[in-house]
Amino acid sequence: MSAIEEIKQKLDIVEIAGQYTQLAKSGKNFKGICPFHQEKHGSFFVFPDRQSWHCFGACSTGGDIFSLVMKKEGLDFGDALKLLASRAGVVLPSPARLKEDKNKHDRLFQINDAARDYYHEQLKNSVEAEKARNYVNKRGINARSLSDFKLGYSLTGRDNLRKHLLERGFSVEEMLEAGLLIEVESGIIDRFHNRLMFPISNAEGKTAGFGGREMDGSQPKYLNSPETPIFDKSGLLYGFDLAREEARKQDMIVMVEGYMDAIISHQYGFKYTMASMGTSIGDRQIDAIKKITRNLFLAMDADEAGEKAMIRLIDYENTLNHEIKVVTIPNGLDPDEVINRSPKTWQQLLEKAEPLLDFSFSTAAREVDLDSAAGKSRLAEILLPTIAQIQNPVRQAHYLQKLSGMIKVDQQRLESSLNELGRRRPSGSYQAPVTRKKSGNKLFSSPREEFCLAMLIQYPQLKDKTAGLKLEYFSNSENAEVFSALLASSDSASVRDGLDGATVEHYDRLANQTVAPQGLEIKLKECILLLKESYLRRVLQNQEAILGSTDLTQEEKDALIRQGFDVNHELKELFYEKSKGLERMKREKSTDGTRKKEEEKEGY
Ligand SMILES: [Zn+2]
Repeated sequence: MSAIEEIKQKLDIVEIAGQYTQLAKSGKNFKGICPFHQEKHGSFFVFPDRQSWHCFGACSTGGDIFSLVMKKEGLDFGDALKLLASRAGVVLPSPARLKEDKNKHDRLFQINDAARDYYHEQLKNSVEAEKARNYVNKRGINARSLSDFKLGYSLTGRDNLRKHLLERGFSVEEMLEAGLLIEVESGIIDRFHNRLMFPISNAEGKTAGFGGREMDGSQPKYLNSPETPIFDKSGLLYGFDLAREEARKQDMIVMVEGYMDAIISHQYGFKYTMASMGTSIGDRQIDAIKKITRNLFLAMDADEAGEKAMIRLIDYENTLNHEIKVVTIPNGLDPDEVINRSPKTWQQLLEKAEPLLDFSFSTAAREVDLDSAAGKSRLAEILLPTIAQIQNPVRQAHYLQKLSGMIKVDQQRLESSLNELGRRRPSGSYQAPVTRKKSGNKLFSSPREEFCLAMLIQYPQLKDKTAGLKLEYFSNSENAEVFSALLASSDSASVRDGLDGATVEHYDRLANQTVAPQGLEIKLKECILLLKESYLRRVLQNQEAILGSTDLTQEEKDALIRQGFDVNHELKELFYEKSKGLERMKREKSTDGTRKKEEEKEGY
């Protein structure tokens, strides 16, 4: 996680804004006297969901936590970053440290890649690996998959890998840091022995760490690399680098649990499959998934732990803004077993996947006795909080109706219980300890903004094609900061030099994002239109939220509604522009068939 992301995750805009002005609860949001202009009525709103603020009075502007502090304290982005970093207890990286880290990380990836190649070679050729080869065969893995996933074998000796890597010029210290060696009572030895090795790659396909399955009954059955500067399982998905392109093309990802499930899926053509390597999926993995597709299929093991892990992901439907689906696997089989027996059956199971919410309903219903009053009220107890999480009102009504049918309780009565749940949230003047962690799973980045910047950074010739792209379209201050630095500079090398450490970190991530070189100008144009659309929608959303506040004067309401007309008008014009653009693209597609394909891959 970058320093900027960490700051956003640790701080709550409601607390920071609460220091500048007295805030009171107004529906889901908070309201107060604007800290920036003189007024009697509060026209300053804070939206905890989106971690943003907006003043609809004289300021008529808004932004995120950084812009709030910049405006109030009169700071530039870099200094606001420093102030908030110290509040959050986050150490900002200096450019020198970033460079040092990068060199170190590069070196660790090199060691791991060398170890991966060594293990792979052993699995293919060493006499000792016979048992591991038999195991791989037994699990149905063919030679192609074995080399695609670079499976390997660690010998039974205690220093085979060390000797090999020493010859390659790596030091024992570096091997320890990479987690390939381990210090025990008798000295320093190879961490993995007599195990089938699964290299775990990062998004760029570099080896971040390993998982090793025992071949001699020793414990634990699966041994992982320890956490290292480049290996953090909470941010990795097995097979991500191999699945990404196909997942984009097919606009779906199937998430399985184990290495074997992922490998066999790919072997039989289900190349949009990744493995969670355990049962929990978190913010960072969902963030990576969201950049590829919104269609997530879960195919975890059908045991209790797997079921629980899937149900915990319901909150991420709001993040993905899309329904998550569950693949039900019969007879307690694992996905790789089903696919090995019949890929066609697997295809059918994918097609029959049910919405995660329906799945959680049937799972909960199995646990209670629906014939008894106690069972019915228990079911309502389990499911109402889940229903309360659903942000889409139509879906929420659908599932409320479903619950009402299951327990035969009047829907209106359930609705009032649901409202009760909503009201139990904190109300009145907002006071909370600094350490309060924001509830829910939120993303602190905007993939679209970042993609647009990645294009501009990587293809500087696009800079004079940015007419119509306004600074305020960027909802994240760090993106606005990078964009204005890009506009202000004459050459791309000087952009990076002009930024402070934490922003450089962000800039480097953008510079390394994959951007296909085809159809750049059209992609940029599309991107600008989409950013403008999101911006206008944000403005409308803010206005709607504010209109919902009860203590507005009629005058204020009228002013807001008038502003809303203007925004709606702009949106209409934008749609017209977009439809013209689409027609043009269709025409060009007939002369350049590849272009549309590339557009699709980019996630449009
Ligand atoms: Zn104001």
